[in-house]
This record gives sequence, C-alpha cells and structure tokens, in this order.
Amino acid sequence: MTVVKRFIAGAVCPRCAAMDRIVMYSENGKQFRECVSCGYRDEMLLQSSPRELDTRVNRSEEERRDEVRPVKLIDPKAV
Ligand SMILES: [Zn+2]
Repeated sequence: MTVVKRFIAGAVCPRCAAMDRIVMYSENGKQFRECVSCGYRDEMLLQSSPRELDTRVNRSEEERRDEVRPVKLIDPKAV
C-alpha cells in the first residue's frame, strides 16, 4: 500500500518553524502530519478533513457567475 503524502500549503512546523515543510498523510485510518525538515510527526485530530483547494477550481462557470451577480441597491422610484 502506498502512502500518499501531500504538502500543506502555508503550514508551519511547531517544532522547527519551517514553513511549507509539513506533509499530510493517512495511515491506518488516521491522519498524520509530518515535518520533512526536522522529522516532527503528529497525529491530526481533526474530525473533518481539511478543505481541498481544488474545490475552488472545480467550480463551474455558472456558479462563479452567481457569485459576482450584483445586488441592486438603487430604488427605481428615486430615479
Ligand atoms: Zn520541523
């Protein structure tokens, strides 16, 4: 079984304070984070998995258009 390790963007190691050196991986159904710089290892106790960055990219054009739809604040009677 291959353990996939993913870097956590912006994560800081609690031991050596190195940034972007933390990898996240799951083993035996548990989530661990590990610092590739100093070897620090810790079990992640989060109940929900961290938000995937790709969800933003995978959004459809339609959803994006809904977001930028302007809110009309002008009262037509006042014109
Ligand atoms: Zn470290």
